[in-house]
Amino acid sequence: MRPRSESADRPVLEAAGVSRSYRRGQETVEAVRDVSLAIVPGELTLILGPSGGGKSTLLHLLGGMDRPTKGEVRSQGVAVSRLPAEALAVFRRRQIGFVFQSFYLLPHLTAADNVAMPLLLDNVPSARRRQRAQQLLTQVGLADRAEFYPGQLSGGEAQRVAIARALAADPPILIADEPTGDLDSASGQQVMELLAGLAHQERRAVVVVTHNESFVPLADRVFRIRDGRLSGDDSAKTTVAASQAPMTAGPRPVAALVGLALKAAWRRPSRSILTGLGVAVGIAAMVLLVSVGAGLSQRVTQSILSEGPLTTIFVSPQAASAGSSSLFTGSATSGPTHPIFASTIKSLGSLPGAVGAWAEVDLIGRAMAHSRQTLIVVTALPPQALWPDKVAPTLSQGRLPLRTGQAAISASIGKALFPAITTPKGWLGKQISVAVSASTGQGGSGFAPLAQAALTVRTFTVSGVLAAGLGSAQVAIPYPQGVAWFTSGAAKGTIASYPGAEVVAGSAGQVSALANRITKLGFGVTSMSSIVTQVQSAFSTVEVGLGVVGGIALVVAGLMIAVVMAMAVLERRREIGVLRALGSTTADVFFLFLTEATLVGFAGAAVGLLIGWSLGKLAEAVLAQPGLFLVQIWLAVLALVLGTVVALVAGAIPAGRAARLNPVEALRQD
Ligand code: ADP
Repeated sequence: MRPRSESADRPVLEAAGVSRSYRRGQETVEAVRDVSLAIVPGELTLILGPSGGGKSTLLHLLGGMDRPTKGEVRSQGVAVSRLPAEALAVFRRRQIGFVFQSFYLLPHLTAADNVAMPLLLDNVPSARRRQRAQQLLTQVGLADRAEFYPGQLSGGEAQRVAIARALAADPPILIADEPTGDLDSASGQQVMELLAGLAHQERRAVVVVTHNESFVPLADRVFRIRDGRLSGDDSAKTTVAASQAPMTAGPRPVAALVGLALKAAWRRPSRSILTGLGVAVGIAAMVLLVSVGAGLSQRVTQSILSEGPLTTIFVSPQAASAGSSSLFTGSATSGPTHPIFASTIKSLGSLPGAVGAWAEVDLIGRAMAHSRQTLIVVTALPPQALWPDKVAPTLSQGRLPLRTGQAAISASIGKALFPAITTPKGWLGKQISVAVSASTGQGGSGFAPLAQAALTVRTFTVSGVLAAGLGSAQVAIPYPQGVAWFTSGAAKGTIASYPGAEVVAGSAGQVSALANRITKLGFGVTSMSSIVTQVQSAFSTVEVGLGVVGGIALVVAGLMIAVVMAMAVLERRREIGVLRALGSTTADVFFLFLTEATLVGFAGAAVGLLIGWSLGKLAEAVLAQPGLFLVQIWLAVLALVLGTVVALVAGAIPAGRAARLNPVEALRQD
């Protein structure tokens, strides 16, 4: 033993009558019995003793890793062993540097990052962490090993890195548990001299547990512990009263912990990828199913909209019967009838919110050219004044009929009447005769025969060919001529009433108010927007159903994450123990594992979204059905959020288990 210096400092750490017992089945094991000792700055204290004598238990008590069952551990007036868990973590972080027999460097971090770890846990900015790590590595003679990973270091080098890590937060106390146990004698001697130097030159309090009697000459104090009882130097027994000063943690080093979680996930790429893939499959299934629902919904909506714009309101003479709310109200109703006369059209068109109105004119008849004829429906186009509101049909050839005697025909009529002319362009300018015999009736219910006068045959010049979607055999003629023709068919002494009317609202937002006004007048009303709304709500139900099916896959993925994370926690007990020894709080550990699960979940969700989207695009290409899978922004966002949340929930249980892990148990060599 070294000769004792006269001017010994006041102790920085004291054990006062400390005992620690464990229950093992029925019996109680007294690992440490009534131990009192003081640790003094500037001194190297050795604790020697046989295996199972209680050395590690005593170190854990001194280092704030464990609490005594009796007695008290104090540091500079603070009753450390009575601090709340979080404050105890802060005590370890700032007051204690731990050195372990097997180094316990984190394998996925470089030497420099390992050294900087306690500073990271204490929220020190990264530039200062790096600088301090480099300085400490230089001090232990490993400046050139900063970027080496633990696997690339010799045992002696690894232990010196671990000592540098213990010094990172500049703690007044160093605690080393068999630091030379895994080293050859030369490296062991070097490490021990380094520790002695830290006591004597830097005036830290250094406590070392060892088997090795040959280190005794380096020590200032030597204790021996056997069966939990301490003997030897007890010159510094103290009776300093302890107070409970607060030890508060700074803010959680969120960014640093997220970085750590990323590195941990990256360390076992195949496992992280497999876990993430579980989420990816669930998300891909959900995205595919929901997007095909959305795609179909959009298709149906578009085909409805091709029948007329959202601002159009269909008016029929018959009001819907009460309670009837089917998709096509008006078709199967039995309310009172309100005939639609020319005057009715006028007043409908001047209702507040309306841009205009026109009569629906549909006449059944035949079209003829040369000796051929075909059955047709004659439709009056909407009045030209309303065309800017996009109520005019679209053409594939030529132009819309503007003057009396012009007509646009569907392609099927052209084919039937002019079989010799194969290009629709060739039909333009041809003459056809049209005879009508019936109207499509009142309110669309059945066909009403026309009076004799209607049988007049009229001749038209083909001005255009209608685009598909307007009915298969249609002759569209100018509004005024259609109205006149229809009216002339009214029986003598009666005023013609139309089978229906269409009212154009100023904007889609005005449709429902306008439709209400028309309903109040006693007419039946159907609007494009109401049909679209109903179709879309029907499809939303389908989409939700499909989403739930995809969701089941997600639940399975969540279970997978929970299992894999639980395995990871078992496997990484030691890492958790080291983090706790370096001063992480339980909340830090919880956050770390939860973040890892969440990152994997988010990455999996992103990949799943990409897979779902790509498979959709592939299917569209193979089936030649563009737009069949519609991935809307909300779906993409939902997929990412859902995948992340599933991982978060699934990760919470194993993360909680990691956080609750007893650090002493976690670090036990077994
Ligand atoms: P050393 O470090 O000197 O080898 P330890 O401090 O590890 O000794 O152990 C001292 C005694 O306490 C041993 O008998 C050991 O079996 C017992 N012990 C340590 N930890 C536990 C525990 N968690 N549960 C039960 N017994 C324990």
